[in-house]
Amino acid sequence: MYVNGEWLRDGPTFSVHNPATGETLGEVFDGNAEHAQQAIKAAEQAQDSWAGETAYKRSELLARAHGLMLERQAALANLMTREQGKPLKAAMNEVKYAADFLLWFAEEAKRIYGETIPSARADQRFLVHKQAVGVVAAITPWNYPISMLTRKLGPALAAGCTVVLKPAESTPLCAMAVFDILHEVGFPPGVANLVTTSDPKPIGDVFCTHPSVRKLTFTGSTAVGKHLAQAAAPQLKRVSMELGGHAPFIVFDDADPVHAAKGASLVKFLNTGQACISPNRIFVQRRILEPFLDTLQERVGKLRAGNGLDPANSIGPLINEAAIAKVDRQVQDAIAKGATLLSGGARLSDGELANGHFYGATLLSNISADMLIYREETFGPVAAVVPFDDDDDVIAMANDTRYGLAAYVYTQNLARALRTFEQLQFGIIGINDINPTSAAAPFGGMKESGLGREGAREGIEEYLETKLGGISI
Ligand code: NAP
Repeated sequence: MYVNGEWLRDGPTFSVHNPATGETLGEVFDGNAEHAQQAIKAAEQAQDSWAGETAYKRSELLARAHGLMLERQAALANLMTREQGKPLKAAMNEVKYAADFLLWFAEEAKRIYGETIPSARADQRFLVHKQAVGVVAAITPWNYPISMLTRKLGPALAAGCTVVLKPAESTPLCAMAVFDILHEVGFPPGVANLVTTSDPKPIGDVFCTHPSVRKLTFTGSTAVGKHLAQAAAPQLKRVSMELGGHAPFIVFDDADPVHAAKGASLVKFLNTGQACISPNRIFVQRRILEPFLDTLQERVGKLRAGNGLDPANSIGPLINEAAIAKVDRQVQDAIAKGATLLSGGARLSDGELANGHFYGATLLSNISADMLIYREETFGPVAAVVPFDDDDDVIAMANDTRYGLAAYVYTQNLARALRTFEQLQFGIIGINDINPTSAAAPFGGMKESGLGREGAREGIEEYLETKLGGISI
C-alpha cells in the first residue's frame, strides 16, 4: 500500500491472477482496518497544506500526471489486459480516457470560481466561496481499473482534497501503477494514499465511520453502494455513488437496422459486457426486427473470445467464476422461459481457454419481462433482444427498472428522438450514438444507479463546499 508518500510492502499479501490464463501476476499488500486508519491519518495531516496550495500548483501536478500516464499508455494497457482481461486495444483506449480526467480536472482546478451576490441591504455584501470538502475516501471497481480511479482522483485532488483509495481486489496492480505515477510527479506525502486489500468490508467500515473522512465516493454495485451510504449516514458524510445499470437500447422502425445492429454489437460486447452502461435489453420495433437480428447474429458469430493480448480476439474473459455462473443462470433461465438462442449460450473452455473464465458471445431474441435478464444486470457477453410495437409501450418498458444509468435510442426522426430523450428516466442517453462518455461530459445515474455526477464541470463540485460570507460594511 502507499501511505504518506511511501510504498509499504512488508506484511501479509494476497495473489492477483490473470482471468484469461489463471496465471499469478503478483503478490499485493493485504491491508486491514488499521492500515485504513493509518492512511486516513496521513491524509488528514496533509489536508490543510494541500488545500492551501495554489490552484496552479495542483493543476500543474495533475497535468504532469496526465503526461506521464500517456507516456506509459502501452505498458499500462498491457498490465490492464493481463490483470482485468479486456483486449489490448480497449485497454489502450481506457488509459487514454483515464488520462483525460487528469487533464480536464487540471484545467478545472483553475476555474473554482466564487460569486458576489447583491444584498437587499445597502450596508451588506455577500461573498460565496468554494472550498475543499476535506479528506475523501474512495472505493473503485475492477471493470475499468484505471479510469474509475482517475475519475475520482482528478477532481478530488484538483479541488484541494486529500484522498485514501481502496481499489478492487481483482485489479490492485493497475491501481498501484496509477499511484506510481502520482508519486513520480511529486504529489506531496499524504495527499493521495492507496490501501489494497482482499477483505473490503473492514476498510469500508473505517471509511464510513472515521470522523476525519468528510466524503465517500464509490463506484460499484447498487447493493454495496446502498450498504455504504447507510453506514455513512449517521455522520452525514457527503456521498457520491456510481452504481449498477440496466441500459435499454431502443431501435425505432425508421432507423437503419443494419447501422443500429452494428452499434448494438459494438457497445454490448465492449469489455465482454462488463460495463455499467452496457445495453441489457435491446428493444427493436417489430417491422425491422428481422434485418436487425440478421446483422446482429452475423456480427456476434464473428466475435472471437480469448486472451486479450492476441489482436485476433475481440472479447476477453469474464472476471471470475461467479461471473460465469451468473451469466449462464440468466441465459438458461431465458431459454427455459421461451427465449430463442441465436448464438453462443455456453462457457468456452477448449484449448488455451481452459484455465480462463470465458463465455461465448451470446444472442437471445424473444426476451420477455418475466425473465431474469430483463431485470438483473448481466455484466456479461449476452445481447438480449425484446420486440416491441408501439412508441409509448417501449418508453414504459425501458423505464420499468430500478436502475437509471444509460440508455440508447436509434431513430432518424427528430421529434421521436427528443420525445424519447425527455421521457427516459436515465442519466446518460446516446441518440444514434454508442459512446456518450467523455471527461468533459457529466456521467451518472438516476434512481438506484446512483447519486452525483463524475467528469465535466459538475465533477469537481462533488468535492467542494459552498461557503457564504455575509459582510456588514
Ligand atoms: P462491487 O462488488 O460493489 O465492488 C466494488 C468495490 O467495492 C470493490 O472495490 C469491492 O472490493 C468493494 N466492496 C465490496 N464490498 C464492500 C464492502 N462491504 N465495504 C467496502 N467495500 C466493498 O462491484 P463490482 O462487481 O466490483 O463492480 C461491478 C459493479 O459496478 C456493477 O454493478 C457496475 O454496473 C458498477 N459500475 C458502475 C459504474 C458507474 O459509473 N455507475 C462504473 C463501473 C462499474 P472487492 O473488489 O475486494 O470486492
